[in-house]
Amino acid sequence: MEKKILRELVMVSRQIAAAGLVVGSSGNISCRHGPYMYIKRSGLWLERAKISDFIAMDIKTKTVAGKSSRRPSCEFPLHAACYQAREDIHWVVHTHPLYITALMQAGVRLRWQGFEAAMILGDSPAEVAFFSPGSEALAEQVARAAAVHPVVCLQVHGLVTVGAGAAEALHRSLLAERMAQMQLLSLQAQRAISSV
Ligand SMILES: [Zn+2]
Repeated sequence: MEKKILRELVMVSRQIAAAGLVVGSSGNISCRHGPYMYIKRSGLWLERAKISDFIAMDIKTKTVAGKSSRRPSCEFPLHAACYQAREDIHWVVHTHPLYITALMQAGVRLRWQGFEAAMILGDSPAEVAFFSPGSEALAEQVARAAAVHPVVCLQVHGLVTVGAGAAEALHRSLLAERMAQMQLLSLQAQRAISSV
């Protein structure tokens, strides 16, 4: 079971990097396992993830389980808070997607288009104001939003998606970014047509 989870974490990490949702060591993912969560270590580039790059932490006490010389991602409070917010959240994916972040910085309210998005992403995403990365304030706001919405956009920062499984949380991250890209293309097309 533990090995299966770790293999999934490696696979999802590489898929996130391959999709361009993060650059360098940004972004972090975790998976619940009983009273613990496995979370990526600090400084890891997701594209280079290995099984040994994930650290077990107690969700309640937010302390590293056992002995580890490596530090967990600085966003561990956010991940722990999401698991505490809802029992059915088993995966948390945090990325820095280009289109979502750009549209939010431009003041555009993100809206999903189409049947597929409604099925996978639910209503338009929750939005959280800017709080320092890794802070308890950010963790609290994201967990509160994630309790009612599986897709949470962070001002001047990025995206958090949650899910019952790896595929669900990853799919939401990939599709949300694609929807943002589509929204931008749609806005540009409307502008081009109206200027003719
Ligand atoms: Zn971040």
